[in-house]
Amino acid sequence: MRGRKLAALAAVAMTLAAGCTYELQDPEARAACGTLHYTINPHEAGDAQVAAVQEAVEHYGDTVGRDVVFDGLTDTPATTAPGDTVAIEFVWPDDAPTGMGYAEPTVVDGVFTGGWIYLNPALGRSPEGVVYRTTLHELGHIGGLDHVSDPGELMNPALPVDDYGPGDRVGLAHTHWSCGHDGPSPIPRLTALVAQGSGGEA
Ligand SMILES: [Zn+2]
Repeated sequence: MRGRKLAALAAVAMTLAAGCTYELQDPEARAACGTLHYTINPHEAGDAQVAAVQEAVEHYGDTVGRDVVFDGLTDTPATTAPGDTVAIEFVWPDDAPTGMGYAEPTVVDGVFTGGWIYLNPALGRSPEGVVYRTTLHELGHIGGLDHVSDPGELMNPALPVDDYGPGDRVGLAHTHWSCGHDGPSPIPRLTALVAQGSGGEA
């Protein structure tokens, strides 16, 4: 019995290694549930690019099981916004490293409550698809995910895919495990499924 369980767990580990990977910033932390409020400071960004950011936040909300409310455009710096919201700004400080996006999650007592996101102003004139997936990637950080090198996941910093990959989704389900249901976290659930021989779905 014990041997069978170990073999089943090894099979799941292989599945994860073959295209379903995620990294958590803090394995003990979880993300906030309930309504997610966000703002956008657009500076010179185009309307279509601002709309792409809104679409991305809506999709993130659908993915993690949170309702999303847009609190509107603002001209205040994202870094000064309350930590229980997500403040997104098309800005790139002179001393920032090269990049298209940057996210700084707010963590309070082990809970990812929100944070702020910088989008490179160049994105304000970029194709909407690029703006969309960059925003999704940065929201992944806000939701507790770290980078992976798997080319099938959006948390790969090269942004190789247009949407969250299978590992991204398991990672977000892990950090949002208490949102919308009372069951155990996906990791014990995954283990239980394997023990029952029903495969590696999570
Ligand atoms: Zn990143």
